[in-house]
Amino acid sequence: MAVEKANQENEVLLAERQKLLDDIELLKETLRGEVDIDVDEGDPDVIEREKSLALLSTLETRLASIEDAIKAIGRGDYGICQRCGKPISAERLAVKPEATLCITCQAEVERLKKRGVYAPRRSSWGM
Ligand SMILES: [Zn+2]
Repeated sequence: MAVEKANQENEVLLAERQKLLDDIELLKETLRGEVDIDVDEGDPDVIEREKSLALLSTLETRLASIEDAIKAIGRGDYGICQRCGKPISAERLAVKPEATLCITCQAEVERLKKRGVYAPRRSSWGM
């Protein structure tokens, strides 16, 4: 049953989303608690803070992907590549339930990102 499957995926994504929101909140809390630190170069606290900021940005990127996937479930096109419209393989979705791009497009997007020419919005692909 397609609908049951979508519900299951939605639950996985919602649980993952909640976990990320908790992690982000915790991290922000930690960062807020460190505002009075001495900002000398090489201060271990500064290094820790930069690590936390990098982690925060990773978590926020992942959260955005998960939210995109949840929206895709709502639209009924979850599991369909948002770039080329082909189905995303079940193996890929099992490993990365928030994937909204097929493996080919993901690789292409990574390549474009490295060159700094990738704009993440769907509309930029003329859709
Ligand atoms: Zn694709």
